[in-house]
Amino acid sequence: MQVDLHGSTVLVTGGTRGIGRALVEAFAEAGAHVAFTFRSSTDAAAALVESLEEQGTETLSLQGDVADLDAAQAHVNAVTEHFGSLDVLVNNAGITRDGLLLRMGEDDWDDVIDTNLKGTFNFCKAAYMPMMRQQSGSIVNISSVVGTTGNAGQTNYAASKAGIVGFSKSLAKELGGRNVTVNVVAPGYVQTDMTDELDEETRDSILDAVPLDRLATTEEIAEAVLFLAAPASDYITGHVLQVNGGLSM
Ligand code: NDP
Repeated sequence: MQVDLHGSTVLVTGGTRGIGRALVEAFAEAGAHVAFTFRSSTDAAAALVESLEEQGTETLSLQGDVADLDAAQAHVNAVTEHFGSLDVLVNNAGITRDGLLLRMGEDDWDDVIDTNLKGTFNFCKAAYMPMMRQQSGSIVNISSVVGTTGNAGQTNYAASKAGIVGFSKSLAKELGGRNVTVNVVAPGYVQTDMTDELDEETRDSILDAVPLDRLATTEEIAEAVLFLAAPASDYITGHVLQVNGGLSM
């Protein structure tokens, strides 16, 4: 897909690994200035900045916990001060702490809700004013197929991902009049560190349920996000784009 985002500034949360890294690389390839956040993978962040700058992409890396509202505000301020605008925000950072509810600790619930759902709230809240003032912007929030289907052992994660859908549709209604779109990409199972943790039996049962009979690549998720961030989708807002190989229809 040919997308031209020259002159645009993109901020991706959780950009050092997996889907986030593919997003950062795809936006750079499309010509955007790219800022990304990460929590602890300092070496991976430094290597990514170096490789993007070698390719001529102006890049900003920002370390912090997405669950911290002050850090989110500081990151958005850093982006607008450095690049002069924030055109695209992708809330991608996310974690799992799986377990049956009977055995799920309060920390497992809080960590997942704070990172996945509150993290999305934090960055959207911080981006609200700059995007409202510039009367343009695209926000893409990363949910998951389990946000609509549910999944045993993932009550915390599914709740956070379903929450992102309701949150995003509400924000789409708030910001529509300001020419800011808010959409969701809901991946199925993607080949990343997160799914590398699955045991073989779970992996096989997932593949049995996917009509396309394979996991997604991170690049395929990035393509869907790029479409929702690009001018070609300017009249799409409040949409949930399922990218799951037919796992849920
Ligand atoms: P990875 O575990 O591969 O990468 C997660 C990224 O998020 C890392 O860059 C990590 O930074 C960052 N991150 C995690 N927690 C925080 C935090 N508290 N503050 C800041 N950054 C943080 O994840 P995936 O690429 O697999 O997943 C990306 C998104 O896609 C998530 O929202 C996930 O729920 C969703 N998704 C993934 C699917 C899959 O099959 N993989 C399926 C459906 C949805 P660091 O390295 O520094 O920790």
